Amino acid sequence: MSAHSLPESAAVWHSLEIDKALNLLDSNADSGLTSPEVEARLQKYGTNELEETNGRKPWEILLDQFTNIMLLMLIGVAIISGLLDFLSLQQGTLKSGEVPFKDTIAILAIVILNGILGYVQESRAEKALAALKKLSSPLVRIIRNGKLAEVAGKDLVPGDIMLLEAGVQVAADGRLIEESNLQVRESALTGEAEAVNKQAILTLPEDTSLGDRLNSVFQGTEVVQGRAKVLVTNTGMQTEIGKIATMLQSVESEPTPLQQRMTQLGNVLVYGSLVLVVFVIVAGVIQARGFSNLQELVEVSLSMAVAVVPEGLPAVITVTLALGTQRMVRHHALIRKLPAVETLGSVTTICSDKTGTLTQNKMVVQSVYTNQQNFRVTGDGYAPKGDFQLDGENIDLETSPEISALLVACAVCNDSVLQKEAGEWVILGDPTEGALMTLAGKAGIEKDQWHSKLPRVSEFPFSSERKRMSVISQVEEVATSDPGMSGVDPVIAGFLTSEPYLMFTKGSPELTLERCTQIYLGDRSFPLDEERRTQILAANEQMASQGLRVLGFAYKPLTEVPPEASEDTSEQDLIWLGLVGMLDAPRPEVRTAVAECRQAGIRPVMITGDHQLTAKAIAVDLGIADADARVLTGQELQRMSDQEIEAQVDLVSIYARVSPEHKLRIVQALQRRGRFVAMTGDGVNDAPALKQADIGIAMGITGTDVSKEASDMVLLDDNFATIVAATKEGRVVYTNIRRFIKYILGSNIGEVITIASAPLIGLGAVPLSPLQILWMNLVTDGLPALALAVEPPEPDVMQRPPFSPRESIFARGLGAYMVRIGIVFAIITITLMWWAFNHTHAQGYEGDPDAWKTMVFTTLCIAQMGHAIAIRSNNQLTIEMNPFSNLFVLGSVVVTTILQLMLVYVPPLRAFFGTHALSLSELGICIGFSSLMFVWVECEKLFFRFMGKKTV
Ligand code: ATP
Repeated sequence: MSAHSLPESAAVWHSLEIDKALNLLDSNADSGLTSPEVEARLQKYGTNELEETNGRKPWEILLDQFTNIMLLMLIGVAIISGLLDFLSLQQGTLKSGEVPFKDTIAILAIVILNGILGYVQESRAEKALAALKKLSSPLVRIIRNGKLAEVAGKDLVPGDIMLLEAGVQVAADGRLIEESNLQVRESALTGEAEAVNKQAILTLPEDTSLGDRLNSVFQGTEVVQGRAKVLVTNTGMQTEIGKIATMLQSVESEPTPLQQRMTQLGNVLVYGSLVLVVFVIVAGVIQARGFSNLQELVEVSLSMAVAVVPEGLPAVITVTLALGTQRMVRHHALIRKLPAVETLGSVTTICSDKTGTLTQNKMVVQSVYTNQQNFRVTGDGYAPKGDFQLDGENIDLETSPEISALLVACAVCNDSVLQKEAGEWVILGDPTEGALMTLAGKAGIEKDQWHSKLPRVSEFPFSSERKRMSVISQVEEVATSDPGMSGVDPVIAGFLTSEPYLMFTKGSPELTLERCTQIYLGDRSFPLDEERRTQILAANEQMASQGLRVLGFAYKPLTEVPPEASEDTSEQDLIWLGLVGMLDAPRPEVRTAVAECRQAGIRPVMITGDHQLTAKAIAVDLGIADADARVLTGQELQRMSDQEIEAQVDLVSIYARVSPEHKLRIVQALQRRGRFVAMTGDGVNDAPALKQADIGIAMGITGTDVSKEASDMVLLDDNFATIVAATKEGRVVYTNIRRFIKYILGSNIGEVITIASAPLIGLGAVPLSPLQILWMNLVTDGLPALALAVEPPEPDVMQRPPFSPRESIFARGLGAYMVRIGIVFAIITITLMWWAFNHTHAQGYEGDPDAWKTMVFTTLCIAQMGHAIAIRSNNQLTIEMNPFSNLFVLGSVVVTTILQLMLVYVPPLRAFFGTHALSLSELGICIGFSSLMFVWVECEKLFFRFMGKKTV
């Protein structure tokens, strides 16, 4: 049947038998589709993607931009200014050459531009985040061309055979072919929070409702437990979730704490300026003893209102956050929620998993312990090549039935696949299991061979809570059909029982040993006495204290397949096989990252499911803890009250044998102690802890889809050092944001005071028109501010303690700086204004009497250039800094100065902006006054250095 004539579209999959469904889709449960078939189906059905629908419609996003109080005030100014022009037109009092409604049009243009900019940026930020999310979108395990493969979710087609396991988010709709203990949380689709048990064997009536289709799985739902093989039936918009086209995929665009603070700041500025306007009008009226100068006062008020609004700020903030996200991606940290960019810099505690984050997750088995003997295993990587040695001598495995039995358990109780790709041995699946496959391979024991001889009939899957797993295999056939299997006879002989099934269990040694009552020795089993137990536990501790990850193995003959979910009763009375210890070397870069954390006042904490001694050996090696550090185990945590944990969390840096629920309690305790916590997680049950943490971090490689969904950030390389790099970026972003806020608002305050002072010192005219103020706020402040946003990190960025995320934006001297600089700015400009006014009104002056206004305008602009250069560092003098380390600042200063001069000297621009040509000496005086600003900021740095104060 060709792909183009599939009668599948009308099929009601849950009402079909498995074979019928497979037939309809022309697929095969064992070999899947072939590549040409997949191609054809991709053509026919398209990719498996949902067309994204966002919560807010475009026009709603656009309208939202204009609800900002500062823009509303600008609109008010535009209207009043328009009315004034209208009155002047009516009364014929418009000055010659003046274009009516110029200010109104300019202000409205800025308002609209700001709105459009905000709209574009907001939608782009949403799209960028969506794209980032896609980057972290999971690979799906499938069977194609008879082989196991991993493909991107979007490449699935109907007919594909998809494999599911705990933690996976289902990538397409499908009909179950087989399943084991499968539990799926379908809340995304049905709203039902409880996980649902699924069963392949059922066939259901056609009209079964979505929530009751127990033989099917649906895109967007989460596998909580178990595993399954699924025939993909619907993809893309044909899936149930696609049909209802909900906002599942829509990106949450929460305002960042900074954006919220900006809104508050806007309110303060608007109300503050209104108070100031009232003050100026009242003072002006009292001074003039009447309303003779009312028009001037109204014009002053309008200019002040425009001056106080930092029109360029929102754009600069958005760009900074976006650039921060991009830089973090370059460091392999993928931001999923925008606030994380700025709040990362506030992290005080990083709680990290061990395996794969602090270590390489490249496991190599180094020792095997059975029958009181510790065997060394040689070989590197996943290549199944190496020897088993006892006291430095290679041993013949046939003489050691215990090892052979243990190795069979390694291969059978295992979900990974070891295969050669492009000449290299690689594993698909969990590296711990991969190392065990390699170990078995070193003895010539291959999974395929054993899978056909001991076919799996059931299992109790691994979970971080249980810390073990069991596989139930059928043995009848082995026993009867091939009793003399060469090479491994003793194994079978040993396992041989009259029972038709064997259960193999592996997991944490202590917990597995607890469940054993016998021990396998020679080719028989003996009761497990206390002495042997103690020996085994001592061997376990000895291996663990070398930093090895140790697993215990056991088996048990069974008369029948145990029922599902009976693990607690079935995994009892086991027969102990032995221990396997594997090395998972620490990542070399983590040592430096840990040291960097400590310097930065950030405490790294290890939280692992592994044994306490393994955890401690690695934590000490990496510098996370001292050799005498206390380790808290999951068992201890279990007994402790929340208060007791809270009393310990600041002292303990290693938590071992923990379960995901303990992680949640640890984060909560840390948070109650006022810590700002970043927490890593990979498992399905880590989601609550990730959500609770201030920064939830999921693993890009080993993380489950569910953990990624719950996270703020995904580590593309699973590496602890990446968290530290992202934290550093977070600090840089926040420092730069503070820097340009200081820069922009300091100038706004200066402008407002200067404008307000004009009528008070009796100049009889407003020095700056709204248009000129807009120019300053957008261009001469905006461009350098953008350049300051990409300022490279100051050298001490990771040598100071983290900032509290709850601190006000004005904290640590920022507010004082703004006011101080605003006043200095105003004093410089008012002095110049007073001088320039008198100069241009002096007898014998030949230039334009209004040139003083342009001198004020020019001084304000050029002073900001010096300010931009000086403010690049809080503590370093400009001459101590590399002038080329931020070329953007240099470039923006040059460009802005040229633009400013063009406004004064290019006639059409002069006419439009209402400036007046300055003589060279007047320009020189402006530059002289302007440079005072630079000098002041540099003197401040010297002063603070002298006083021994460092500002950050
Ligand atoms: P971390 O939390 O730092 O990543 P971890 O990987 O050791 O540590 P888990 O994966 O929860 O944490 O494993 C906990 C314990 O369960 C391990 O120490 C090991 O004893 C056991 N274990 C791990 N993987 C398996 C497996 N595939 N089968 C059986 N037992 C396992």
